[in-house]
Amino acid sequence: MADLKKYQVTEARIIKMENLCGTIYDVTVENEYLAQASRCGQFVHIDCGEQFVLRRPISICEVTDSGIRFIFDVRGKGTKVLSEKQVGDTLDILGPLGNGFTPSDKKSLLLGGGIGVYPLFELAKQTKTCDVALGFRSKDLVTLEDEFKKQCDNLYIATDDGSYGFHGNALQAVKEKLESGAYEAVYACGPLPMLKALKTITDNLGIFCEISMEERMGCGIGACLCCNIKVEDDGEEGFKHLHVCKDGPVFNAKEVQF
Ligand SMILES: Cc1cc2nc3c(=O)[nH]c(=O)nc-3n(C[C@H](O)[C@H](O)[C@H](O)COP(=O)(O)OP(=O)(O)OC[C@H]3O[C@@H](n4cnc5c(N)ncnc54)[C@H](O)[C@@H]3O)c2cc1C
Repeated sequence: MADLKKYQVTEARIIKMENLCGTIYDVTVENEYLAQASRCGQFVHIDCGEQFVLRRPISICEVTDSGIRFIFDVRGKGTKVLSEKQVGDTLDILGPLGNGFTPSDKKSLLLGGGIGVYPLFELAKQTKTCDVALGFRSKDLVTLEDEFKKQCDNLYIATDDGSYGFHGNALQAVKEKLESGAYEAVYACGPLPMLKALKTITDNLGIFCEISMEERMGCGIGACLCCNIKVEDDGEEGFKHLHVCKDGPVFNAKEVQF
């Protein structure tokens, strides 16, 4: 049962709203509570308007001095309405929610694909020494390249159509280096096939790997069972179900059953 006392709804004022490219929007909101309580890898649940029963989950991209920044792609009706908000408007936000990443002092690899790139930015800022590999569909969708470059030792960009950087996905771009034992910790967010392939590699190497699972989500507080995933369990069945919203979205890759 969800412990409702630990969830906070807050009003946050939009102080920056920028269309980065195509249907990708970069938003910064001002709210002292969010600035203080938010950690890398957590997400917020945003009320996009009265017409929507459910809030929309969006990852925290950066924790700023006065609030948080998030970046989203317009995928359906909720995010379309969100993209029409203006600087000065107020958003009704539930959060921060979820557990977040565990930053490491060890040489790390951060791996992001598509909208999975954005939750890695605050993590990159907090990681002592890391390489970052980011995958996008095509060159026109490459975002945050210069910002990530400042936070890491090496930045690898991959595009599905080969129009910029490595031709393929982010994991393929660094697979050889990863398999050579260059990293002691890996963090990833992106399409399930990429996370699944990554888990096979990091399981074989026996290295620490955290993955953020952006499953379809309903309530965001563990009450509706919409976003459950299978994880390893010592019991008879060998697995149990956990909620992405309450127990995640970040999981140890070793435990996740795809
Ligand atoms: C933990 C988490 C973090 C996320 N972070 C980001 C982010 O940083 N940037 C970003 O662009 N997107 C992110 N997403 C995906 C984003 O939540 C969906 O694209 C968005 O909810 C779509 O809403 P919609 O009304 O536009 O689309 P619709 O398809 O009209 O939505 C209908 C319903 O399905 C749910 N839904 C649809 N697609 C998804 C999805 N992929 N994941 C979860 N719920 C979905 C919606 O929340 C809504 O309840 C995240 C999802 C999760 C679970």
